[in-house]
Amino acid sequence: MNLWMEKEARYCARNYDPLPVVLGSGKGVWLRDVHGKSYLDMMSAYSAVSFGHGHPALLAALTEQAQRLAVTSRAFHTDQLGPFLERLCSMTGQAKALPMNTGAEAVETAIKAARKWGYKVKRIPDNKAQVIVCHGNFAGRTTTLVGFSSEPQYRGGFGPFAPGFVSIPFGDAAALEAAITSHTAAFLLEPIQGEGGIVVPPPGYLAACRAICARHDVLLICDEVQTGLGRTGRLLACDHEAVKPDGLILGKALGGGLLPVSAFLAREDVMDVFGPGDHGSTFGGNPLAAAVGSAALRVLQEENLVERASSMGDYLMAGLRKLRHPAIRDVRGKGLLIGLELDPAWISGRAFCEKLMHAGLLTKDTHSTVVRFAPPLVITQDELDTALGIIRAVFDALPAKEAAAGAAEPLIV
Ligand SMILES: *Cc1c(COP(=O)(O)O)cnc(C)c1O
Repeated sequence: MNLWMEKEARYCARNYDPLPVVLGSGKGVWLRDVHGKSYLDMMSAYSAVSFGHGHPALLAALTEQAQRLAVTSRAFHTDQLGPFLERLCSMTGQAKALPMNTGAEAVETAIKAARKWGYKVKRIPDNKAQVIVCHGNFAGRTTTLVGFSSEPQYRGGFGPFAPGFVSIPFGDAAALEAAITSHTAAFLLEPIQGEGGIVVPPPGYLAACRAICARHDVLLICDEVQTGLGRTGRLLACDHEAVKPDGLILGKALGGGLLPVSAFLAREDVMDVFGPGDHGSTFGGNPLAAAVGSAALRVLQEENLVERASSMGDYLMAGLRKLRHPAIRDVRGKGLLIGLELDPAWISGRAFCEKLMHAGLLTKDTHSTVVRFAPPLVITQDELDTALGIIRAVFDALPAKEAAAGAAEPLIV
């Protein structure tokens, strides 16, 4: 433990368990610790840093706008918000957007919109609206959102929870149809479950959900906070099955890796349920966030990052599949959102990530057995070769399964 780790341990709530590295700077796909050692960033802050660290165009947008006008609240118009949301709507094919800051707030916004639409438009009886969600979902950490999580640790000790949610298995379209009642307002879905372990549903699932929701007048709301904006090799993960949701939630990368910027987007009759004063946020849609969000969307298009995510993702996926180490149970994902599942009897995800860290690559496990590989979309093939070399070397140095399973802590850490 060094000075910085000690201060964090002393003064910061222990709601995270960071890898033992203290970062001081970053550029592109590289991070540097306070001792000057470099690491490849294969996690991009859970996809928030899709454009890499310190992207010059994003830094320019941030600093210029910060000097001109940063925060006004939405009590007034600004010259930044309209153009930002125009670009966002036209890129995603949605009619209107409601700007927020974090992903969790944008999901909360989607739930409020769905419920109000249920009462005002679908005529569901007062306080009866239901939203269907999937096992293994991750939507953020507010009390309402953890209330419909299937992860005991996310819920434990935080109840009582808001009613009005029904949970069904992910990837099972028949279960969706069976769960719908006349009180169902919306189906809230991650097209690929990120925090749930990079879980890709069976082909045709999204399209089937789209058809079922349309048939029953239920809103299909896609939470693309993690999968959106190029991450999976298409602008939206829904695009893989040509599905247009009725509501769309974006966040993470929308802030260009610089600020929290999120939005709920929807078709007209859904967004129009909100009137002045119904919902809001002090910082949501501020001119600084709008300028950076606009610049992020511009960079995404100008640098063809969606296509890059697709081709580089295929390259990384092929490289990981070629490793063929017996400790690997599965390699899955789409584009540059890839999970490598380890045999927990061999090594834990956490221990594997610590070994990667010592070898110069940073990432984090999700659900303890899945190691996430989700680098900035600007990563080059050479840099992926560097990553694959490090990952291969860590596998090559793993002790045999019997030794690992029988060993005390020090051998696997
Ligand atoms: C990260 C994430 C969220 C929550 O975003 P925060 O900015 O952490 O509140 C919501 N949905 C999905 C799918 C996410 O991956």
